[in-house]
Amino acid sequence: MKYVVVTGGVVSGLGKGITASSIGVLLQACGLRVTAIKIDPYLNVDAGTMSPFEHGEVFVLNDGGEVDLDLGNYERFLDITLTRDNNITTGKIYQSVFDRERRGDYLGKTVQAIPHVTNEIHDWIQRASKVSVDGKEGEADVCLIELGGTVCDMESEAFFRALSDFEFRLGRENFCLVHVSLVPVLGVVGEQKTKPTQHSVQALRALGLTPTLLACRSAKPLEKSTREKLALFCHVPAHHIFGIHDVSNIWHVPLLLRDQNVHLAILERLNLSTARQPELSQ
Ligand code: ADP
Repeated sequence: MKYVVVTGGVVSGLGKGITASSIGVLLQACGLRVTAIKIDPYLNVDAGTMSPFEHGEVFVLNDGGEVDLDLGNYERFLDITLTRDNNITTGKIYQSVFDRERRGDYLGKTVQAIPHVTNEIHDWIQRASKVSVDGKEGEADVCLIELGGTVCDMESEAFFRALSDFEFRLGRENFCLVHVSLVPVLGVVGEQKTKPTQHSVQALRALGLTPTLLACRSAKPLEKSTREKLALFCHVPAHHIFGIHDVSNIWHVPLLLRDQNVHLAILERLNLSTARQPELSQ
C-alpha cells in the first residue's frame, strides 16, 4: 500500500479536500485503485453532535457513520463507499487508547503521546486503508490521507508526528506528501507572495515532514518566477510545485492538475511508473 498525504498551511479552507480528491481522480485514471481517509483533529468523537451552523451538515455514510462533508467529496469524486473508520478524529484515537489502558493492554507502562497515541494512529490508518471501498476484492493501491486543519494547530501535532514516523517506517517510496499552501497577491504590490508558504514549509519540517509536492492556491495561475522562488526557499524542485488557481467549477481541478503532470510526480515518487496515462474528459 502506498500513501499520499495532503496537509495544509497558512489558513484553513484552502482546498485540501478538493486537492486530495482530484489527485485520487488522476490516480484512478492511471489505472490505480484508490481509497481515502480523512483526519479531523478535533476532540469530538464524530461530527454527529456538531452544530451544522459551525461545521456544515453532517454527512452520513452507508454504515451509519456520521462524518465530515469531505467524505462525501471523496465518495462523489472517486465513486467509492467509505466506512466510519475512514474518518479519524482525535476523539476516536483517545477513546481507543483509553479503552486499551482500562483493559490493561499496555501492561502497566506509562501511556504517552509518543508512542502510544502515535501508534494508535498508525494502526488505525493501516487497518482502515486495507478495507476495500470500490466493491472489488483485495486492498487498494493507494490510500489518500487528508489531514484537516493547518500545520501549526496544536490539536494536529500528534497527527503530524505520527505521519512523520509513518514515513520513516514505510520508506520514502511508499509515502508522498502534498502540502497545500496559499500564495496571496497584495493589492498595492501586485506580486504573488511566497513568504507564507516558506513559513509553512519550515513549520512542516520542524515536525519532521518534508513536502514532496507543493500545491499553491492562488487567485490567478502561478507565475514562473513565483515557482522558482518557492523552489529556492522551500527546497522543493520547481517541477514538483504546482498551482491551483481559483476556478469557476471545482470539477476543473483534476484537469488543472493533469495539465501540470502532477500524476507523473506522484507515480515517480511512489515507484508506480507502470500505470497508464490518465484520460479525463473535459
Ligand atoms: P479544506 O479541505 O482545505 O478545508 P475544501 O477542499 O473543503 O478545503 O475547500 C474549501 C472550499 O473552497 C470549498 O467550497 C471548495 O469548493 C472551494 N475550492 C477548493 N479549491 C478551489 C479552487 N481551485 N477554485 C475555487 N474554489 C475552490
